[in-house]
Amino acid sequence: MLIVELKKLQVNGIDTRIEPYNSYTNKILKLVQIVMNKQAMQEFIINYRCQYRNGFSQTTLDNAQIFNAFYSGQERGGENDGIWQAEINYYYAKTSTVGYTNVGSTLINTNTRLIPLAYDNESLADRVGNLVHEYCHLVGMDHSGPYSFWKKKERLYSAPYAIGHAAQSIAKAHLGMGSEVWNAL
Ligand SMILES: [Zn+2]
Repeated sequence: MLIVELKKLQVNGIDTRIEPYNSYTNKILKLVQIVMNKQAMQEFIINYRCQYRNGFSQTTLDNAQIFNAFYSGQERGGENDGIWQAEINYYYAKTSTVGYTNVGSTLINTNTRLIPLAYDNESLADRVGNLVHEYCHLVGMDHSGPYSFWKKKERLYSAPYAIGHAAQSIAKAHLGMGSEVWNAL
């Protein structure tokens, strides 16, 4: 059983709208834990193949290696303890960036600008997908490469995007919306 210990660490910026997001964090983290322990999530990673290669794009790792990294709990080369340990940092910025992580840090920065004020199941599932995407970066997965239209498209099949979108779909299915299967096209 995977243990999720993502924590809200701090809130940055002066934005009175941030508080509702904080009160929702525990719900999001519980759902992350449920989704990560679903068979559908685990099978998605093991069986994944994209149109560019037999596995995830933009990585030299095979599916088993991605799976092991994802469930290792080994953030930034830390202890292989099966426990997700990271902190969420809410901030507000007038950009289109949903969230980001920095090399060497276990902080998951989340832009509250793109989170709707009225929480519903759909936005909850969106948050799960984004957190899982950002968490993938903490355990060494990436979607780098020179920017171009095709690279942008190919990014969808990278481990952080594919796994994040799958987590979003599985979260939605768990909440009674749609199927667990995510297709990029
Ligand atoms: Zn990313």
